[in-house]
Amino acid sequence: MVVFRCRRCHGDVTAPVREVPLPDPDIAPAPYTVPTGEECPPRMRPGTFAYDPPEAAERVHRPQFAGAALGLRRAGLSGIVLGRADVRGVELTSLRGRRSGCCGMDGFDGPNLVCGGCAAEVATERTDCWTPR
Ligand SMILES: [Zn+2]
Repeated sequence: MVVFRCRRCHGDVTAPVREVPLPDPDIAPAPYTVPTGEECPPRMRPGTFAYDPPEAAERVHRPQFAGAALGLRRAGLSGIVLGRADVRGVELTSLRGRRSGCCGMDGFDGPNLVCGGCAAEVATERTDCWTPR
């Protein structure tokens, strides 16, 4: 299990999660495709995370001790995908231009979640009605 932390203040920004393969984006539903009254499932199952793109995950050095940092940029990763329920200790950014979306956050204007401890940008939430969660 891994707990992701803020790069600046080292506060926890996720619950403990375990690595799984990145689910196919073509099978992840968006809320508008789910029948009325049904809840849209998140792309990632609770308690899991995946590297994106998946092929870059092979280049990630996985430290063997708790609290160690991952060298994600050196591995060529664009991001880590988590379910929103596993993201903790964050707040919506105060930058209005980053909070676009009609029913939620579409995430297309850059990081929209900041660390609750130090306000560093830590994640991009995509929870709009037309985006997989
Ligand atoms: Zn922080």
